[in-house]
Order: sequence, then structure tokens, then C-alpha cells
Amino acid sequence: MPYTAATQDQLLAIAVNAGIEELAESERFAAAEADMVEAIVTGIGEFAAGEWAPLNRVGDEVGAKLENGVVRLPDGFQEAYAHYVEQGWNAIASPADHGGQGLPFTLGCNVLENLGTANMAFNLLPMLSIGAIEALEHHGSADQQAMYLPKLVSGEWSGTMNLTEPQAGSDVGALTTTAHKIAEGEHAGKYRIKGQKIYITWGDHELAENIIHLVLARVPEAPAGSRGISLFIVPKYHVKDDGTPGARNDLRAVSLEEKLGIHASPTCVMSYGDSDECFGELVGEENRGLAAMFTMMNNARINVGNQGVQIGERALQQAMDYARERIQSARAGSPDKNPVAILEHPDVRRMLLRMRTLTEAMRALLYYTAGQVDRGTLGDRAAKARAEVLVPMLKAWATDTGIEVASLGVQVHGGMGFVEETGAAQHYRDARIAPIYEGTNGIQAADLVTRKLGLENGEALLGLLADIEKDAAEEVALIRLANSCGDIARWMRDEASLDDRLAGSVPFTEMCAVAVAAWQLLRQARAVANGAAPALTQIKPVTARYMLDHVVPAAAGLAAAARGGANLFYQLDTDAFAD
Ligand SMILES: Cc1cc2nc3c(=O)[nH]c(=O)nc-3n(C[C@H](O)[C@H](O)[C@H](O)COP(=O)(O)OP(=O)(O)OC[C@H]3O[C@@H](n4cnc5c(N)ncnc54)[C@H](O)[C@@H]3O)c2cc1C
Repeated sequence: MPYTAATQDQLLAIAVNAGIEELAESERFAAAEADMVEAIVTGIGEFAAGEWAPLNRVGDEVGAKLENGVVRLPDGFQEAYAHYVEQGWNAIASPADHGGQGLPFTLGCNVLENLGTANMAFNLLPMLSIGAIEALEHHGSADQQAMYLPKLVSGEWSGTMNLTEPQAGSDVGALTTTAHKIAEGEHAGKYRIKGQKIYITWGDHELAENIIHLVLARVPEAPAGSRGISLFIVPKYHVKDDGTPGARNDLRAVSLEEKLGIHASPTCVMSYGDSDECFGELVGEENRGLAAMFTMMNNARINVGNQGVQIGERALQQAMDYARERIQSARAGSPDKNPVAILEHPDVRRMLLRMRTLTEAMRALLYYTAGQVDRGTLGDRAAKARAEVLVPMLKAWATDTGIEVASLGVQVHGGMGFVEETGAAQHYRDARIAPIYEGTNGIQAADLVTRKLGLENGEALLGLLADIEKDAAEEVALIRLANSCGDIARWMRDEASLDDRLAGSVPFTEMCAVAVAAWQLLRQARAVANGAAPALTQIKPVTARYMLDHVVPAAAGLAAAARGGANLFYQLDTDAFAD
């Protein structure tokens, strides 16, 4: 089914929630003026719908294949990626010093939102490259930046992130890939890399001329755990002095995972150094690799949260279309006994309004978070701390909600949703990965109630909740929810045991995320009432009302679970529990 980019709602979110006009007042983001923003949002929406969306189905049905050591994508992917690079979309928010346009992260998010709505699996390719760019921008040496960034920024080369190993998933510190420094010879100063990584997204393919793998590994005698991890650049092809790809490095995709969804994204088992000839360069200092990864992790997590918006929008459009066409039964209570489109039945209305509301709310939260990141880049410390608090909320809530919306999309289709014919099932399958990778949602919630709760002695989170209460005006349910989140945050910070905090972390994260998202949707509704986005005058008050009257009170009901503590979970010992 074709899809149309949600340009108007995106422009509204970028204006109201990210506050793009204010960002453009800074020297750094001066180029982000209204015309430019509109050109980008409209342009990428059209490009994504026209070139990447038509490949979504074949990507799912045929998928990536490993043939004689080469990863192949279905016909059309190579050209669609080349056009994306030619048109300069990869460079929107990348550093200007290395060929990027240096525009706000907010606009980079918009590029990804559109590409991912068109084709979630394909979008992982630029998404991973952007992560590699950020890591090198902050931690690479001047030489490394000069050698790798221009081609990564243009998109001619792509990037990957290699953390996971069979025994090292959430516990990254358990990784065992090794890196030995080379004292002399052609590769003196580099490191010999050896080990196996699993689940590496777009770990190999032919769409880009070179692939720059960022690999976490241990040098000899490194401290155990996460304090002994170093970060390395390991290119697929060594780069010659003139900057072009040279000899092949000793690394390969051993196999591709068979997966529930995102079939067009090759998820590779990668082997480094089968012949002891894999060479990589250290990024930053030895044993400081995880810190370097953390720099880009916040933004990477925002980009995964963005996938909730993407899948929500795509599933919504498809369900709305189907509900208009499918005729079943007369409207209950109507004197007219002719069957009507299912869109006319109250419960189908409920599902579609919920889908639409949640998608808009996720988008509002996404751009609010992105705007805080951009303010942080401009030196606003409070905004930087706020962004850090928002990241686990966005990543966890939006990815869980993406599944809920995609699931409702299947439900709206009835049996046609469960069979593969309509494509509704693909969105549901694709959506399922997002709560798992880039730190599972359990790990996000743990991050919120430990490290993030402690930021600025708790004031980063409490200040956010206080702002919601102050701005909510007559919205009593929202005030109650924000107030309840504040009470629980203080209890967690001052009284609760670590186990009790962790036991309540997931419901607490959802409560906070709903409070912020509802606040941001309310701000949109107020802006529309004041004349912004005339095309949304009818829909926005309805979705904002649904959020405030249906979603917010339900989230407030999670307080009991958030405060419930861990005792019940451990009432049975492990054997009694698991038997
Ligand atoms: C399609 C796909 C693409 C991926 N892409 C990449 C990639 O490009 N690069 C890369 O490095 N990795 C990638 N990954 C790996 C991904 O990041 C991990 O799967 C994820 O971090 C979880 O690790 P795990 O699968 O080992 O699960 P585990 O860590 O074994 O977790 C299993 C369950 O236990 C929970 N759990 C574990 N530890 C704790 C704890 N301390 N407290 C509470 N709960 C806990 C988890 O939340 C989860 O519910 C990808 C994975 C997939 C499936």
C-alpha cells in the first residue's frame, strides 16, 4: 500500500515541540530557517514515499541473502541507496567540517522518520552510519576524522556498531574479542583484532563502497568488565593514502540471522581475524571504549524510539485505508440496515483514534527530545540533562507503543491482518525488534530509575515533571499524573531499595513518558487553536483530548505497580518459581 508522509504533523512537531525557530536564532543553526525546514521535510517525505516505500514489501518477502560470501539485497535497493546519497540526505545533520550540512539533530530525526516509515529495515543502514559518524566526531583523532568522516557523511561508505557477542548481550562488559597492538612492520601502531560478533546490523552488503566497523574489543591485561573495553575502527577495505578503498581486511559475515521481521536488514554474525590478519585502529584511549560508545548511545536510542513513530504512522495509514473500504454490518442502532464501512463502527473508531493519537503523541515526544538535544549542543546544560532523562522514556515507551499501534492495525484488518496479503502483519513483525535492540526496554527503565534519576540530584527529572504540572492549566488528569510521577520519583530516590526501584521501573517509565507525551500533544493542540497548521484544525483537538482523557488516566493507574516493590517477585525462591 502506498503511503504519504505525515508532513503537516511533522512540521507542527518540529515547530512546537522542538522549537526550531528558536534554534535557528543561534549562529550554529542559523541555516534552519523556515523555508529550509519546509524544503527538507517535504523533500525527504516525497523521496522516501517515492523511492524507499515501494521496496518495503520485496524487502520483507525476499530479504537480504548471503550468497557465496556476498550479502545481496533485492533488486532496487542499490539504486534507491545511490539516489539517497546523491541527493545529500545522509549529510543533513552531520558536521559541517566534514562535508555535512551541520543542521540540527531535529532535522536529522526527520530524515530518519520519513525513511523509516517508508522502509524500516532499509532505514537501519543510514541509522547505523549516523551512529558511527557521531562516535568518530567526538572521539576520533584529526587523522581518523579526515580519513573516514567525509565518506561516512556523504553515505558513500556505511558504518556499523559491533558490541554484542554470544555471551555479551545486555552485559557488554562480558565481551571477549581481543585487540593486540602491533609494534612494527606495515601495520605498526594498529591492532590485530580477533573475535566473533553477533547480530550486527548491516554488517555486510554491497550498497556502499566500504564499511567502517566500529568494534569493541579488549587489549591484553585490560581490567575485567566494562572498564576494560576499547573501541576500534575496523574497515572492510583498508583505506589507501589517497582515501580510496584498498586491500580487503580479514573480516567477513559468516551468516545472516533468520528473523521475525526487518528481513531487508542483514543481521550478521561477523568474524574478525580468521587468518589473524584483521587490523584496526584504536579510537581514543585504551579501555575508554564504552565511554566513547556512550556519547552516541543517547542519540542512537532516540533514533530507535523514532522507529515507534515510523511503524505507528505506516500501520495507521494502512488500517485507515482498509477501514474505509471494508464493508461489514449495519451501524448499530441505525434505522438504515445497509452494511457500512467498518470505520463507522464505534470499536473500529476507537482503535483508529487510539492508533492516531499514540502516533502523534510519540512524534511530539520525539521532537521534544530532539529539540532538547539541540539545545544541549548549543551549550544549554539544563536541556542536555533533560534530554538524558527523556531518552529512556522515548526509547522504551515509543517502541512498546509502536508494537501496540501495529497490533491494532492488524486487528482493524481482522483476518486480513493476520494473513500476509495486506502487509499489516509485516509492520507488526518489523516493530517487534525495537524494544530489544539498543538496550532492551528493561535496561532503559533501569537506566531511568538509577543513573537518570540521580542526575542533578533528581532535579533533572523532577524539574521536567514540575514544568508539566505548571503548564497543564485546567488539565486535571495530566496534573495528577505528573504529580504522581514526582511522588514516585522522590520515593525511589530517597527511600526505596534498589530492588524496589528496579521492580517498578517499567511501569514508572511508562507513566513518565505518557505524562511528557501528553503535555507535548497539549502544546500542539494549543498552537493549532492559535492558528498553527490549519490543515490539522479538526484532528488535533480530538487526538489531544483522547490522549488526555483516555491514555493519561490509564497511565496514572500504573502507580500501584510502580510502587509495588520487589517482595512479591521474590516470594518464591528460584526453584519454586521456575518449576
Ligand atoms: C535484529 C537485531 C539487530 C541487532 N543489531 C545490533 C548491532 O548492530 N550491533 C550490536 O552490537 N548488537 C546488535 N543487536 C544486539 C542487541 O543490542 C541485543 O540483542 C540486546 O542488547 C539484548 O541482548 P541479548 O539479546 O543478549 O539479551 P539478554 O541480555 O540476554 O537479555 C534477555 C532478557 O533479560 C533482560 N535482562 C538482561 N540483563 C538484565 C539486567 N541486568 N536487568 C534486568 N533485565 C535484564 C533483558 O531486558 C531481556 O529481557 C541486535 C539484535 C538484534 C536481534
